[in-house]
Amino acid sequence: MKEKRSGELFERAKLHIPGGVNSPVRAYGAVGRIPRFIESAKGARITDVDGNEYIDYVCSWGPGILGSAHPEVVGAVQKACEDGLTYGAPTEKEVELAELISELMPSMEVSRLVNSGTEAVMSAIRTARGYTGRDKIIKFRGCYHGHSDGLLVKAGSAALTTSVPDSAGVPEADTVNTLIAEFNDEVSVAELFLANPGNIAAVIVEPVPANMGVVLPKWPFLTFLRDITNQNGALLIFDEVITGFRLGLGGAQEYYKIQPDLTTLGKIVGGGMPLGAYGGRREIMNMVSPVGPVYQAGTLSGNPVAVTAGLTTLRILKRDPAIYTRLEEKARILADAAREAGEGDVSVNQLGSLMSIFFRGGGVNDYEHAVGSDTDAYAAYFGYMLDHGIYLAPSQFEAMFVSDAHTEEDIMKTCEVMRGYLQM
Ligand SMILES: *Cc1c(COP(=O)(O)O)cnc(C)c1O
Repeated sequence: MKEKRSGELFERAKLHIPGGVNSPVRAYGAVGRIPRFIESAKGARITDVDGNEYIDYVCSWGPGILGSAHPEVVGAVQKACEDGLTYGAPTEKEVELAELISELMPSMEVSRLVNSGTEAVMSAIRTARGYTGRDKIIKFRGCYHGHSDGLLVKAGSAALTTSVPDSAGVPEADTVNTLIAEFNDEVSVAELFLANPGNIAAVIVEPVPANMGVVLPKWPFLTFLRDITNQNGALLIFDEVITGFRLGLGGAQEYYKIQPDLTTLGKIVGGGMPLGAYGGRREIMNMVSPVGPVYQAGTLSGNPVAVTAGLTTLRILKRDPAIYTRLEEKARILADAAREAGEGDVSVNQLGSLMSIFFRGGGVNDYEHAVGSDTDAYAAYFGYMLDHGIYLAPSQFEAMFVSDAHTEEDIMKTCEVMRGYLQM
């Protein structure tokens, strides 16, 4: 496999861009390979600057549910560009997008558009604090909510109640209000509520964590979170940046039939452009400026080109909800093939079009299990797949995404390559 041009670009990139990339996982550090510099992507295929073509299971980390460069989305975006790239003023399309979001996710009665998932989460937390008049939040170890200061915490294993930043440059003062619980562990949550009576503004959770690899919520963990937040006057925030419009039109909240107080969206909602959203009940969102005292703003918020990409994508999904059945079928074929070929050496989690193959036996139901995976084995698997034309996330702790553009032939070829490796 040729990688000369990618290699040259990577060297050049490292001179003027930290690590040569604009988001760390792209550097392939965890898999010891040269990152692919991409020339183009169409449907389920992604092509690098050396002319290698791959079947793409990264899908830009989630947005690409329709595959790349869907003609209808591209056409709408081209038209939007001609009408002006940005106005910094309200548009009809923003209204249509807010209406469509609240139709598909009724808990998001009122929503505000921002430019990324990070921004959506940061703003939702500010809103929850403003609404409750409380400072502390609970997050789960291994859940990712973007890179804002207060959320870059996972805490040491013995320290369920003290919070140490994961990143340099984050003052401890910015994370003291972030309490860490264990996903799928009710007791860890109940203990934090007991220890901090009347101080917890919100519990934030990825309802199906996909940033430690995909881990499924045990029944009735999410129901428990709904109940304990209600009982304590705290808000429940579903971070549906990945699951929103992926687990189904109504996201994880529809799938599990749980109404969060606030929801954050990103990835699919922008249809491949930088766009995020946060929203919830009117009474809570009335806290947000200019209606209420919680300040939040953005020069490019509601950017007309991004809104067009998102709106067109959501309309396609709504028009053809059978997409979700097709996605699930394809993911299930891949998951079954991996389970069978990997025998006891891998654990496969799959829900809808989200899946992860963990290189460890015995099943993965929480953060401890996930981090117990053999990352060297993942790196070897990743390298083999890449060399055989299958483009996967370069880390054990990311999801594998299936899109509507993957054909049966793509899936069969992927299964064959996967078997080739796993049965070696
Ligand atoms: C990707 C992601 C974010 C951050 O979104 P960005 O657009 O990368 O800022 C937040 N939460 C979850 C669950 C995510 O997967």
